[in-house]
Amino acid sequence: MPQIKRVKAYEVLDSRGNPTVYTTVELEDGSIGSAIVPSGASKGKYEALELRDDEKRFFGKGVKKAVENINNIISKAIVGLEASNQRYIDKFLIDLDGTENKSRLGANAILSVSLAVARAMANYYKMPLFRYIGGVRSYILPVPLMNFINGGVHADNNLDIQEFMIAPIGAKTFREAIEIGVEIFYTLKSILKEKGHITNVGDEGGFAPNLRETKEALDILMMSIEKAGYLNKAKIALDVAGNELFFEGKYRIDGKLLSKEEIISFYKDLVKNYPIFSIEDPCSEDDIECWKDITKELGSKIQIVGDDLFTTNVKRIKMGIENNIANAVLIKLNQIGTLSETIDAVEFSQRNNYKAIVSHRSGETEDNFIADLSIALNTGQIKTGSVSRSDRNSKYNRILIIEEDYGGIYGGLLWNSLSTN
Ligand code: PGA
Ligand code: ZN
Repeated sequence: MPQIKRVKAYEVLDSRGNPTVYTTVELEDGSIGSAIVPSGASKGKYEALELRDDEKRFFGKGVKKAVENINNIISKAIVGLEASNQRYIDKFLIDLDGTENKSRLGANAILSVSLAVARAMANYYKMPLFRYIGGVRSYILPVPLMNFINGGVHADNNLDIQEFMIAPIGAKTFREAIEIGVEIFYTLKSILKEKGHITNVGDEGGFAPNLRETKEALDILMMSIEKAGYLNKAKIALDVAGNELFFEGKYRIDGKLLSKEEIISFYKDLVKNYPIFSIEDPCSEDDIECWKDITKELGSKIQIVGDDLFTTNVKRIKMGIENNIANAVLIKLNQIGTLSETIDAVEFSQRNNYKAIVSHRSGETEDNFIADLSIALNTGQIKTGSVSRSDRNSKYNRILIIEEDYGGIYGGLLWNSLSTN
C-alpha cells in the first residue's frame, strides 16, 4: 500500500471570488489526488472553523495561514503515512489540530488534505472516486434538489426564504431528471421575463427576481412546472435558513414578525397548498421547541431537514434523534472537516431512519467530490444548486457520466417512501 510522498497547498478562488484552499497529495507510486474546499454564507454556529487570515488583503478573507498550515505543519506530519487508511489519516489530522472545532489548523486546511488523500487512493486503484469510497454497495444515483429561485443572504432581493428548489422525483433516470430540471428552469426564465422581472442569477445559479413574498415565488415556480409539462414529475423543496430570519425569539418573514406558533401554521399552509416534500432549517439552530413542534406537525408528511441545526456532526444529530426533531440531515463536508466524520454522519443518520442529503455550499468550486460522495453513500438526494454556472453543473455533469458508464438506480429504494407520499 502506498505512502504519502508529497502534500502541497495553494490559495485559489471560489465561485464568489473569495480565496479558498486547493491541496494536492502525491503518493509514492506517483498517484495524485487534489481537492478544493467550498465555503458557506449562511453558516451554522456549530460548524468547524474555516480559517481566514483577517488581514487587509482580500478584505480579510485570505487563506494564506490555512495554506501555510498544510505546507509547513500537516505536510511534515503526514508524509510517510499509509494513504489507504483514510480513517487513520483523518484521526491523525484531528489529533494534530487538537481542538474541538479544528480552529488551530483550520477545517478548510484539514478537509482539503483529507479529500485529496481519498482521491489519490482512488487514482492509485484506478477506480472512480465513488467506487473507492462506497465499494460494491454504492449504486444509487441521487435525486437533485435544484435551487431555481434564490433569496435570503444568497440574493439581493426581498425574498426571505433562501432557496426554492424543484426535485424531479418522477424521473426514471438521472439524465431525465436533469432534462426536466433544465426545461423547467428555462420555462421559469421566460415567465419571469414576461412578468417584467430581472433574470440575473444568484450565488447558486438560480434566478433572483425581485418578488415580494414567499407565495409569489411558489406560484411562479408552479406555473413553470405546469407550463413545462411536469406537474406529475416534479415536487418542491425549500431551504428557509431559519437562523437568518430569527430575531429575539420571532421569525421575520414576508414583512411580518411571526411567533413560533405562527411560523408553524405558515409552513402548514404552504405544505397544504403546494407540492412541497421537504423543508430545510424551518427553525433557528437553537430554537429546539420550534423544531419539536414542526416535526410533530409535519414530520410524518414531509422531510424536515437539519442543516445549520446538525452541521454534519454526529453529536448534534444524536441530540436531534434524542429530542425527536427533524427527520433528515443535510451533509456538508466542510461543516465537520474530514471525510471519515462525514461518512459517520451519513451512516449514523441512515441507521436512525433519518435521510441524508449531500450538499454543496453557496461558495463552490469546480471540485465535484460531492457528486461521487452522494453515490458512494447511497444518500438518494443531492443539493447542488441550479442548472446554470459551472461550479454547480460540474456536479451534475459528473453524475451524468457515472450513470452512463456505471449505471445505478435513480433515487433508489430510500426514495420510495417519500415519492409515494
Ligand atoms: P450556505 O448555504 O452554503 O451559504 O451555508 C447553503 C444552505 O444553507 O444549504
Ligand atoms: Zn441550508
